[in-house]
Order: sequence, then structure tokens, then C-alpha cells
Amino acid sequence: MDYQSIINEIAEEVFPLLGDGKVANYIPALAGVNPKQFAMTLTLFDGTQYSVGKADTLFSIQSISKVFTFTLALKFYGTDLYKRIGLEPSGNPFNSLVQLEYEKGKPRNPFINAGAINVTDALINHYGNDETAYEEVLEFIRAISDDKTIDSSDVVAISEMEHGFRNLALANLMKSFNNLDNKVEDVVGTYFKHCAIEMNTKMLSRAMLYLSNDGVDPVTGQIYITASQSKRINAVMLTCGHYDASGDFAFNVGLPGKSGVGGGIVAVVPEVMGICVWSPGLNANGNSLAGTKALELFTTKTGLSIF
Ligand code: GLN
Repeated sequence: MDYQSIINEIAEEVFPLLGDGKVANYIPALAGVNPKQFAMTLTLFDGTQYSVGKADTLFSIQSISKVFTFTLALKFYGTDLYKRIGLEPSGNPFNSLVQLEYEKGKPRNPFINAGAINVTDALINHYGNDETAYEEVLEFIRAISDDKTIDSSDVVAISEMEHGFRNLALANLMKSFNNLDNKVEDVVGTYFKHCAIEMNTKMLSRAMLYLSNDGVDPVTGQIYITASQSKRINAVMLTCGHYDASGDFAFNVGLPGKSGVGGGIVAVVPEVMGICVWSPGLNANGNSLAGTKALELFTTKTGLSIF
């Protein structure tokens, strides 16, 4: 398949949509990003990459980090993790408090904010302190991306904490139900540092390869997780990766995927490739508007959906 021509065509087709969405504006560091940007990268199992647009531009990965923290928590805790976090789609916005109160502090899944904050708490338990939990997640991301330069933006992380009232509320609510072990500020602070990691579409599509290949990096042969764990992460990405628009994403794109409010979306084509698309303008559900359309066009043009 001529992947380069296909993604060039997609970039042209989504061009009129750039600027239609709304850039995340809950912190100044994200509000200042130019919405009229677009990039897309495909990474195959031999490491070959096809890119279009601003594929070297770093952006805030935000909730895409939830895939990586969930991977590590599942690796260390196995099915015990499900005692503290559910696996069902929430049908609610990513930062909703309402369901968490009804369900006694047990987050619906690891990809909404409450779930990812809870996963971070489990990782702090595992690693012994918040600083190590942050460093080890960063090291894991560097390893799966095969790029040691990746880092977190202090400006974004600090700004998130200054405006993090809702996430702190989610953590406090879980703490009140005895479903959070460490100090609220430490857990939320670590969660924000993971969200503030900056990557480009080349790095993120490379980072998806272990999930396209049953937990094993096809380029290096490194085994990260079991095939069964990889299958389950993909399943949760498909059902919960886009919050209350997960059904819509499964319907229109048909791939396991995870979005972030920085405008990035990662997707997995099992046995074939990792994908990342980026465009900062978001739809009403907080998912990249042009990015979602680009992925829909991709599976339509290539037939590479899981269905
Ligand atoms: N840092 C963001 C938050 O916690 C991440 C949300 C997202 O990317 N959907 O609100």
C-alpha cells in the first residue's frame, strides 16, 4: 500500500477543518497553541515511518499518558488492579465527579481522569515514592519510543496544579472512600507531570508498536507485557479511550485509540502499525476534531480497521 500518498491525501482533506475545533484553554500554556496545525505518522514493525505535516513538533501528550501508566500498573498488579479501578465505559466527560460519588470512589476505567489518578497512586505504591513513579514512567515512555530526549514540561505541570481544582476534587473524593493510599497532592502532582510530557507524532506512533504486537517491541524484540495484557489494554482503548465519544470513535474509526486534550490521538492497527495524529483543535468531547476525521479517512481508505 502506498502509505505516503494516502496520508498526503488525508492531510489535504482535513485541511479545511483546521481551526474549527477549540484549543484546550483551561491552562494558559495550552491555550496559546496555534489550532491550525496538523501532523500524522504511521510506524511499521520494521521501524519505517511515514509522516505528513508537523511531525517533528512537540505537543503535550496529556491523557495519552494514561495508556502508559495503565500498562505499567497492569504489569505490576495484574488483575488485582481491578479491585480499585473498573473497566467499563463511563459515558461521562473525562473529568466528571458525579459517577465517582455514586460508585463509591471506584473509577469506571483507567482512561478517565479519576482512573488515571488512581493508577498513579498504585504506581507510587509500587515504586515507593512519587518522584520515582514519575521517573520510571518517563523512562518507560523513552524506551518504547526509542528516544531518550523525551521530557516533561515544568511550565505545563505547574500550571495544571495551579488550576487543578477538579482533579484534586476527584482525588479527594477517592480518598474519602479509602480508594487512594498516598497524599492527594503527591498523586495529582505526579499525574500532571505525566500529562505534561511532550512528544511528537513520530515518537508516539513508534510508542504504540508494543500494543500492535502483543506486548513485544517488534523492532528491538523487547518484551514489555504479556499478549493477554496487551489485548486488554487495546480493548479498554477501544471502549474507553475517547471518554463519552468512545462509541463514536469505534463506529467511525474502528481502531483502539486514546486521545489527549493536547490534540494528539494514538491508534493501534493490530499486527500492522502504530499511528499518531495531532491537531490541537478539539471537539465538544475534548478529542482532536481534525485528528479524529483523519483517522476515519485512514481506515476508510486502507480498510485497516479491526472490524
Ligand atoms: N491534564 C488533563 C486533565 O487532567 C488531561 C485531560 C485530557 O487530556 N483529557 O484535565
